Amino acid sequence: MTAIAVLGSTNMDLVAYVPKAPRLGETVTGRAFRTVPGGKGANQAVAAARCGARVVMIGAVGADEFGVRLRSALTADGIDTAGLRTAEGASGTAHITVDDEGGNSIIVIPGANARVTGLEAGDETRIAAADALLLQLELPLEAVLAGARAARAHGVRTVLTPAPAQTLPGELLAATDLLVPNEHEAAALTGLTDPGRCAAALLEAVPEVVVTLGAAGVLYAARGREPLSVPAPRVRAVDTTAAGDTFVGALAVALGEGRPMPEALRWASAAAALSVQRPGAQDSMPTRAETDALAL
Ligand code: ATP
Repeated sequence: MTAIAVLGSTNMDLVAYVPKAPRLGETVTGRAFRTVPGGKGANQAVAAARCGARVVMIGAVGADEFGVRLRSALTADGIDTAGLRTAEGASGTAHITVDDEGGNSIIVIPGANARVTGLEAGDETRIAAADALLLQLELPLEAVLAGARAARAHGVRTVLTPAPAQTLPGELLAATDLLVPNEHEAAALTGLTDPGRCAAALLEAVPEVVVTLGAAGVLYAARGREPLSVPAPRVRAVDTTAAGDTFVGALAVALGEGRPMPEALRWASAAAALSVQRPGAQDSMPTRAETDALAL
């Protein structure tokens, strides 16, 4: 069984469903409100667990009701939360607006995630036991760096989702095996717009890049190889929240199983396409059997 470690955020998603998102200063009447467990780290952990991996989650929840729910959502998916601390104060929250086109806008308040500033006892062992460490940027950079360093020291593949977009220290890029930005993050990192050019520029810093392009699929680039475009399955999107996290979790599992990159990309694209057809973040993530069925 593939073993995945995730060092990342847990957030309670506070989701408002609206016909059209409000502009600055505007008030709109929404259709519904839901609280659902999210956070890029937890989302990737759940995606990987649903794909059949053994998953450990490293991070922190707050000492509040959201923290209890966030932890139990992970354990319900069979994820080991021994490395998920309970920090003083509020859990992380994400304030999400989803419109009728399935588009979203998000404000994240880090809460307990901001208190994860490095690895704690047992974390290095958790990372060393994994086939891959999944990292994102919703924890303080020093924690992300500590995780990447530990993974490197133990020969564990590091997969970095550079979101939210920000300037990355050279040391973090140097410790990244696979970078998975969406097209906006790729543009922010490189100052370029064309995804192919972004990927080529990013290859100067990391050996492999997958740029996700929403409904247009993904672009894979690796040093010394021809770039590869993989189209997304054509589906009707109702909520794209966590599509990228579903993709990354599934991709890491497929690669951990030793599948070749083109096959892993198609399989992860199937998982992500399933997730956009259902509302929510973790709620929307498919099982391995569902992904197998669409990927066939
Ligand atoms: P999010 O922030 O909403 O989680 P993202 O911006 O990180 O997503 P995207 O590039 O929008 O990432 O989507 C990630 C992947 O999900 C895409 O590469 C694709 O495989 C899949 N996907 C997203 N939208 C669609 C869609 N409308 N139809 C099919 N697949 C989709």
